[in-house]
Amino acid sequence: MSEAPHLTFDLDTPGVSTGNLVVPKGADCEVLSLPVFSCNRGEGPSLLITGGNHGNELEGPIVARRLVEWLPEAQKCGRIIIVPEINPLAVQAWTRNTPIDGKNLNRVFPGRSDGSVSERIADAISRVLLPMVDTIFDLHSFGPTWNYPPAVITHPIADVDLMTKTLRISEAFKLPVTLLWEHDDTAGMFDTWAHSQGKIFICTEFGGGTISAEALTIYEAGVRNGLIALGLVEGIAEYPTFRQQRSGQTLETNPSDQLKSPAPGIFEPRCSVLDEVKQGDLIGILHPMDSLSADSIDVRAPTTSIVCGILSGVYVQANEEVASLARPLAI
Ligand SMILES: [Zn+2]
Repeated sequence: MSEAPHLTFDLDTPGVSTGNLVVPKGADCEVLSLPVFSCNRGEGPSLLITGGNHGNELEGPIVARRLVEWLPEAQKCGRIIIVPEINPLAVQAWTRNTPIDGKNLNRVFPGRSDGSVSERIADAISRVLLPMVDTIFDLHSFGPTWNYPPAVITHPIADVDLMTKTLRISEAFKLPVTLLWEHDDTAGMFDTWAHSQGKIFICTEFGGGTISAEALTIYEAGVRNGLIALGLVEGIAEYPTFRQQRSGQTLETNPSDQLKSPAPGIFEPRCSVLDEVKQGDLIGILHPMDSLSADSIDVRAPTTSIVCGILSGVYVQANEEVASLARPLAI
């Protein structure tokens, strides 16, 4: 029988401490030791911050490392646990999924102790860390092939009270977009499991494309605002500047807002994120590349909406998502 997942240190130690979350070995992989930071300032909220759930979204691990630098000075109460990379195998391979088992870590929660390596990581987080906190910030981004605004997203939650609290804290990040996202593939997500345990789960989507210093400043400000909202650090929450504006909007999107490629080819964007579009406006053009006599195909807005995300110059297969639309949240 293999050992159980565990921490190499006591999270109840007052003040700052560091150690590892040990994910036991299995048939496919040796033991993993994930670096863990803890700052325990006694009574107050308890928060887990995770990055590197998907290995090609490195904004999260970078912001998590920055937090480790300044939190010891700034944190006034409560408990904050940070795991900058929950999936180091995917981060090192710069892939969305875990290379060893090909699985999406964010679809295998709560995991399995006798499963493949992604399932063992999820099991370790679910069993060892999740019970110790009441709130989770899981730091994602849209990855290198998307244009996406700095956002906090949440999926619809059946528990009305938890939904209200989650939206309130999401908006408190003061990022340009807070998005209520009705997703058609939520089984096994970290947030779905955390919600089932009554936890507040905040999922950031820190933009897309390459990672600029300017963008990281916005993301870090968003997390700081979230920490202020929870009462873990002191300060005044302010909107970071994004495209010369300091404001935020709350939007909603559902599966029918995903625009799909009509054929294989290169997608050329013809609008920018947060553009307001009317029915029939041009979103982008799909260029089939196997024949120059094949017509390029317009992708148009089916309804009045706001462009939330758009693919940037990528070769796609037929029926792949090329743009994501949204509308102001109807309260
Ligand atoms: Zn992600």
